[in-house]
Amino acid sequence: MRILLTGAAGFLGSHLTDRLIKEGHEVIGMDNFITGNQNNLEHLAGNKNFSFIRHDVSNFIFVPGKIDYVLHFASPASPNPASPLGYPNLPIQTMKAGALGTHNSLGVARAHNAKFLLASTSEIYGDPQEHPQKETYRGHVDPIGARSVYDEAKRFAEALTMAYHRFHNIDTRIVRIFNTYGPRMRLDDGRVVPNFIQQSLRGEPLTIYGDGEQTRSFCYVDDLIEGIFRLMMSDFHEPVNIGNPSETSILEFANLVNELIGNKAGTIIKMAKRLGNDPQRRQPDITRAKTILQWEPGVSLKNGLGKTIPYFKAKLNL
Ligand code: NAD
Ligand code: UDP
Repeated sequence: MRILLTGAAGFLGSHLTDRLIKEGHEVIGMDNFITGNQNNLEHLAGNKNFSFIRHDVSNFIFVPGKIDYVLHFASPASPNPASPLGYPNLPIQTMKAGALGTHNSLGVARAHNAKFLLASTSEIYGDPQEHPQKETYRGHVDPIGARSVYDEAKRFAEALTMAYHRFHNIDTRIVRIFNTYGPRMRLDDGRVVPNFIQQSLRGEPLTIYGDGEQTRSFCYVDDLIEGIFRLMMSDFHEPVNIGNPSETSILEFANLVNELIGNKAGTIIKMAKRLGNDPQRRQPDITRAKTILQWEPGVSLKNGLGKTIPYFKAKLNL
């Protein structure tokens, strides 16, 4: 297939590009580098199955030649409002990538009668009141809170994807991605995995926002890409959660990172309270993915961190 992948220079987009090329497909990567990095794709220079278009997907998208599949991953993905270098700077771009970018990407799919897959997120469940989160849960989202620009853009993107499916008969899929980590994450995106690994490698205390009792369920990138690939090849149109159901508190996570790296500086509780809108608990119910895609993750947090820490170490020249 000839595949258009928006957000190809990002963390997940670049791994997905590698997988698709390995499967024998041709990938046209599209990105404006707002949070991505061309280094993530440099190993593909000269590969005849890869080409790149620098473009902001909030603007009309034109791609010459026939496209068989559109994968829409372009969106700044760092919703922590406390991140000093990350999210607060990009609220409008986030809404535009989720709303206008999804509309334009669906437009390409329609023009080429191509299949379409949307990268959605567990954030559409907001600060969930149901635990673990099944795809049928409708969420608990603050429409004007600090994370609303991300959550509402992705909810809009899901609704628009289903509208194109129902009204234009586009063959669509929606993946709800839960917290994923691995090599090629941006060092300065403010997310917990790069923050803690860097702090620990430098022998500094780890900054926990709040009491650290909030939970996340971390999925290693290779597991996620396998799940997305299977969904892509399926004919299932409703959203599917892809993530690792193994839930950990942020405090436990901090201690694990310090233990694996051998950091003696310990953890530090930075704020008395969690930041506004920071979900208290998050864990995917992956029954649907298991049943429909015969998929479940296989990499433990310890093993996944074991593959991720050396990447950050090399990037930091430590
Ligand atoms: P990332 O920031 O590394 O990648 C996003 C890419 O999209 C970047 O290369 C960025 O430059 C590009 N981009 C953003 N806006 C654009 C625009 N207007 N035009 C063109 N390119 C644009 O983030 P990621 O973690 O790889 O996330 C990829 C997708 O997966 C996003 O849609 C994100 O919402 C979703 N997601 C990721 C996670 C996760 O844990 N990593 C969780 C849930 C959902
Ligand atoms: N977090 C933290 N210290 C950091 C960065 C993040 O305690 O230096 C917390 C954050 O408040 C949240 C969790 O870690 O509760 C995961 O944050 P991240 O930004 O990685 O993802 P998200 O909140 O979007 O799941």
